[in-house]
Parts: sequence; structure tokens; C-alpha cells
Amino acid sequence: MTITADVAATITTLRREVCALHEQLTRYRLVVWTAGNVSARVPGQDLLVIKPSGVSYDDLTPENMVVCDLQGRVVEGQHAPSSDTEAQAYVYRELPHVGGVVHTHSTYATAWASRGEAVPCVLTMGADEFGGEIPVGPFAIIGDDSIGRGIVDTLRDHRSPAVLMQNHGVFTIGPTAKAAVKAAVMCEDVARTVHKARQLGTPLAIDQTHVDSLYDRYQNVYGQR
Ligand SMILES: [Zn+2]
Repeated sequence: MTITADVAATITTLRREVCALHEQLTRYRLVVWTAGNVSARVPGQDLLVIKPSGVSYDDLTPENMVVCDLQGRVVEGQHAPSSDTEAQAYVYRELPHVGGVVHTHSTYATAWASRGEAVPCVLTMGADEFGGEIPVGPFAIIGDDSIGRGIVDTLRDHRSPAVLMQNHGVFTIGPTAKAAVKAAVMCEDVARTVHKARQLGTPLAIDQTHVDSLYDRYQNVYGQR
């Protein structure tokens, strides 16, 4: 594979961005040790930039990020890529609108995943960000396409950018890696609040028409123009 000067410049920028976004995973306490990662698609290329495997967050640099093709093979880098690379490459292959993927085992979201239970839409924040429940994907073993397939099959049918893979953890997608990180942060926050609400009673469901209008407003109108 030949990498043109333009693509090389884009990869340099993405190495910096992907590296820096890992600081958000620790800042929001979504990860422990080395268990969690961010990746970004190289736009217009069958390439992705991802965290190296087993390197602690403090030791991440733009230079030690790994560039892989969408079969998960290393194209550029001194380190082995994250063990989640195959799953993330599958997502990029199947969902062309996805520009970033994040994986964490954040505590509250993963507690829901361990029960195989979707997080119900009982907060306006859940309607805004996820457009409904945060769905559960199948139990899947690391080492083949089954995690990637489970993520894609689940998210295809949902507005949610987050899926709770059963007994495992969270995968989020976004148009950019930063958007996928935001979805991972919001997923944990919603999972935590709904968990707390459950301790004291039964959270109230939000009417579907309100869910739809909240989602539409947040996705299309909210924020700086
Ligand atoms: Zn994992």
C-alpha cells in the first residue's frame, strides 16, 4: 500500500488526536490499567489509527499509535495494535459513516451488560444522546469477527451510538473519534444515573413522541451554530 503525502499528513494529525483522546478515558474514569481504547478511520482510506496493545495510558504518544488496514493488519507502527482492532476494523468495513470507535469496560454500563439488560430511556439525556434505550449486543468471544458482527448487527437497528456487549463492556461509534468518546462518557453517565434511580424505585419511561422530539432537537438544533 502506498501512502501519499496528503494521507501521511492526515495520519500524523489522527495519531495526535487519537493519542490525546485516551486522556478523556482516564479523566472520566472509564478505564483501568490498559483496558480500553480509541480508534479513528483515516477518511477515504481503508486505514485506521488505534492504540497499541498493553501500553499504559501515561506512556501513549502520537508516535506509538498503530496504523492498520481494515483487515486489522499493521501498516505502520512499532507496536502490536490493540486486541480490539479486529472488532473495530469490522465496524469500519460494515458501517461507512463511522469515523471513530471507542471501547471501555466502564463500571456502570458494564454492570448492565453483565446482566444482559438494556439501559431504558428514562432521562432526557438518554433521549438526546441515544434516541432510546442503550441496547445490548450478544455474548461474543475475542479472536474472530463475532464481536464486530455483534456490534454492527445491534447498532444497525438502533439510533444509539453505544452498545453494551453482553458480559463484556461498551462499544461506541461516531462520525469522529471525539464523538465516539463523548458517547462513551454519556453512556456511563446515563447507566450510572439509571442504576441509582433503580435503587430507590421505578424510573418513569419517557413517552416515545417525546423521545423522538428530544432526539431530533439535540441531533439537529442543539449547540453552537
Ligand atoms: Zn473489552
